[in-house]
Amino acid sequence: MNKCIVCGSRNFKKVISFPSIPVLVGCGTVEMHNKIPNLRQDLTVAYCQKCGLLFNRFPQNGLSWNVFYKYFSHPTTFSVEKKDDAKEFFDFILSYVHKAGRALEIGCHDGYFLSLLSKKRWDVYGCEPSPASDIAREKYSIKINKSMFSPKDYEKSSFDLIILRNLLVCVPDPSQLLMECRKLLKKNGIIAIENPNIDMWMDFETFALRHDVLYYFTSQQLQNIISARKYTILYSKLGKSKRNFILASVKDNTSNGKKGGIYPNQSCLNETREFILKYEENLQEFKKKFYNFLAEWKKTKQKIIMAGAGSHSQFLISLFDIENNISFVIDNDPLKNNKFLLGYNLQVFSPEILKKEKVDIIIASTGKSLQNSLIHSLKKYKKNYSKILRLYPRVEYETF
Ligand SMILES: [Zn+2]
Repeated sequence: MNKCIVCGSRNFKKVISFPSIPVLVGCGTVEMHNKIPNLRQDLTVAYCQKCGLLFNRFPQNGLSWNVFYKYFSHPTTFSVEKKDDAKEFFDFILSYVHKAGRALEIGCHDGYFLSLLSKKRWDVYGCEPSPASDIAREKYSIKINKSMFSPKDYEKSSFDLIILRNLLVCVPDPSQLLMECRKLLKKNGIIAIENPNIDMWMDFETFALRHDVLYYFTSQQLQNIISARKYTILYSKLGKSKRNFILASVKDNTSNGKKGGIYPNQSCLNETREFILKYEENLQEFKKKFYNFLAEWKKTKQKIIMAGAGSHSQFLISLFDIENNISFVIDNDPLKNNKFLLGYNLQVFSPEILKKEKVDIIIASTGKSLQNSLIHSLKKYKKNYSKILRLYPRVEYETF
C-alpha cells in the first residue's frame, strides 16, 4: 500500500515487524508442502498517522492472490464455535431483513452460512475459489462460482442481499469491492458485513497476526468506508468474540458510489494508538512468560507438542523460533490429520496419537475463544501427557 485507503495520506509509521511468518495459513498435503517449502515472509504492521488505519505494510511481497486463495481455505469442517458465529450473524441479518430474495455471498467458504439462508427460502449464490467450495456444492447444493470474485460474472441490479463475511479485511481495495457490490444490488438492496474488530487482534483475543489480514478496522473506520461509497448504514453492533456486524442499504443504485471523501478523524487515530499500545504491552508480557517456560523445557529436555494446527501455531512457532523443539502437532479436525503445518517440517496428527505416544507438554495453541474447548477435548488423554500450557489470559499450566 502506497497511500492510505481511507484518507489518502502517505504518512505511515511502522508498529511492529515479525520475522518469517508462513504466508499460507493452516495445513497442507505433502505435495503442497514440497511445492512451497518454507514459504515464509516477514510480517510488518504499520498505521496511518493521519486517520489511524492499522494495516499490513507489505502484503505478501507480490505473491499472487489467486495462488494464495487456491490453497488457503482447505475444506475443513467448521467447529461448533464457528457455526455459532455464523448463526449469530444470520440472526442479526434476519432480525432486520424479513423478506426472502436473491442473495450472494462473496467468499462463501464451505457454504454453511448460505445453507442457513437457503432454509429460509432465499435463492442463494456463492463465490469461492478455494477447495472449500466443493463442500458448498456437494453438501449444501449451493450454486457456486469457483473462482475469485469478478462483478462481470453477475447481472447488474440483481441481488437483494450481498454478504461479506471476514472479507473486507482481506481484499487489497475494500472500497473498490463495495462499489462493485452496489452495482450488483437492487435499489434498496442490502449489504451485510461481518468483520473482526481491531481489538480481536490487539486485545489478545488472538495475538497471532497473519499475512492474509490486510486491515485491522475499528467499527467507526469500517462504517466510514462503507458510508463513503454511498451506502446508508442501517444497523451496526458488536457481536460475540469481537466481530463488527453492519447492515447498509443502497439508496440510489444509479450512482456509481465513487467517493465521497473520508475525513480523518482524531478519535479514530487515538483509538488505534490505544490498541497498539495495549498490543505491545501484552506481547512483551506474553514473550517474557513464554520464554521462562521455554528455558525450563530446554533445560529438562521435555517432549513438547502443539495442539491446534492453524495460523495461531504458525505464528507462535516463528515468534519463538521453536520448530526444532516441537515434536509434532495435533488437531481435532480429521481433515487436517496426516498433513503438514505449512511453512514447517511438522506433521499433524489426530489427538488419538496420544494413546500411543507419551509427551510431556502440550501447548494449547488457539485463539482465546476456542482455548477452553480445546483443553477440554484433551482431558481424555490425561494419562499420556504431564502438562498442558494455556496461553490466555496469561501463559500458565492448566490446573485440573
Ligand atoms: Zn489514513
